[in-house]
Amino acid sequence: MAVRGHLIADREVLTNQGWHSVWDPARGEVVAEVPEATPAVVEEAVAAAARAGAEWRRRPVTERVQCLFRWKQLLEEHLEELAQLVTRHHGKTLAEARGEIRRGIEVVDFACGAPTWLQGRTLPEVSAGLDQDWYRRPVGIVACITPFNFPVMIPLWMVPLAVAAGNSVILKPSEKTPLAAGRLVELMWQAGFPPGVVNVVHGGAEVTRTLIQHPEVAAVSFVGSEPAAREVYAQAAATGKRVQAAGGAKNHLVILEDADWEAVLPAVLNSAFGNAGERCLAGSVALGVGAAYPRLLEAVVESARRLKLGPGDVEGVDIGPLIRADHRERVRGYIAQGHAEGAVLALDGRQAGQDLPGFFLGPTVLAGVQPDGVVAREEIFGPVLAVGGVSTLEEAVRWINASRYGNMAVLFTHSGKAARRFRETVECGMVGVNVGVAQPLAFYPFSGWKRSFYGDLHLHGPDGWDFYTRKQVVVTRW
Ligand code: NAD
Repeated sequence: MAVRGHLIADREVLTNQGWHSVWDPARGEVVAEVPEATPAVVEEAVAAAARAGAEWRRRPVTERVQCLFRWKQLLEEHLEELAQLVTRHHGKTLAEARGEIRRGIEVVDFACGAPTWLQGRTLPEVSAGLDQDWYRRPVGIVACITPFNFPVMIPLWMVPLAVAAGNSVILKPSEKTPLAAGRLVELMWQAGFPPGVVNVVHGGAEVTRTLIQHPEVAAVSFVGSEPAAREVYAQAAATGKRVQAAGGAKNHLVILEDADWEAVLPAVLNSAFGNAGERCLAGSVALGVGAAYPRLLEAVVESARRLKLGPGDVEGVDIGPLIRADHRERVRGYIAQGHAEGAVLALDGRQAGQDLPGFFLGPTVLAGVQPDGVVAREEIFGPVLAVGGVSTLEEAVRWINASRYGNMAVLFTHSGKAARRFRETVECGMVGVNVGVAQPLAFYPFSGWKRSFYGDLHLHGPDGWDFYTRKQVVVTRW
């Protein structure tokens, strides 16, 4: 079994206070172990990041981006290897793994624009003989804490922009899917990044806390569940650090009768069941307006029933396993609770895949869901779609706006007027019109609202440059 240590400067470090088992969730077996970092390991990582960062920030930005160009090339060359790694310890299909890596590489592309994005501004003669300029300076050491569900893409939401801006990084990946982070950093070394500019420490919540509390860590980029995001935000703010903390979600798909039904069905299926429902942009409540409700329900159940469950590296598989057995139990619990509250189990996936050794759960559709039901309110993070009927678009928007989350909402319609009304009134940071997953590309911010995000500057896009730099104003008279 493989053991992967922390990567600090140019060394693999195995110092630990216990180990985390990494599973192949499709086969139900442990494939690797990673250490839980001790406070001394965190200290070592901070010292390495401080040393490397002092030199890195002084390198001309035109040289820093040469490392990014080479890294991008290496990521392209190793895309298939990385996809296999993601599928092996996350479980998603290879096509989904390739897709997340592609989205991640796009952030590296975007970071290569640093010489333009890092420019400041000058206003000469702001007063007699007086000039004013502002410069963007790196913030220092950035702690990047990532969730299990996108082991390559989410580190790449953070690291490329942070290092392009002249910062150094300590990346703490999820202890459930920690293997890709080390590989990303090895490719960075190969690309010419000095060791220590990005370090990897492994561990769980306690390691995150130690990192946040370290006086030399200047900024915290976090993506994970809502309670953890809230805690991270509060802790980082209490220690005076800048923080961006993306949390959980409950996303709604609204279908009007006039929608293009050929396009609706594949979009809804992909949104609800892609990545086995383990994504923060999963459409987990579908609301049919008027006659769209029965039509949607029938079509979704018919198609979802045909989705193929199995290991993500097997040809023709549509849905991989859930991340762990206990998570599958939680998802089963939500289905049972939704049913007990009166929702109709139009498709019950709880017994599907039982002949397979991994943590499988089949696509599940609950019908007649009410806005106050548990499956309508809580993030389930599994292949479970709650379907409800409403009379008007306004009723659908009221339903969505009652959610404590505000990550994504989608409308399917042919009506420009309805689409405009939807985006004006829905309280959500990412809005889709006739697309199932409204994911912003690298050059736009990943814009969760409400409890889906704590902070003000979002991940990547122009916000990323603002987050990873601080502005210095210089007032000059000669
Ligand atoms: P998680 O919160 O359990 O873990 C995320 C990271 O935080 C991990 O590295 C973990 O070790 C660490 N952690 C866990 N609890 C912590 C705590 N109390 N304090 C500090 N650190 C802690 O999340 P997960 O199960 O790995 O990921 C799934 C969740 O992430 C879902 O809720 C999903 O919606 C969310 N997510 C959100 C986005 C987004 O952009 N909004 C993107 C992907 C995933």
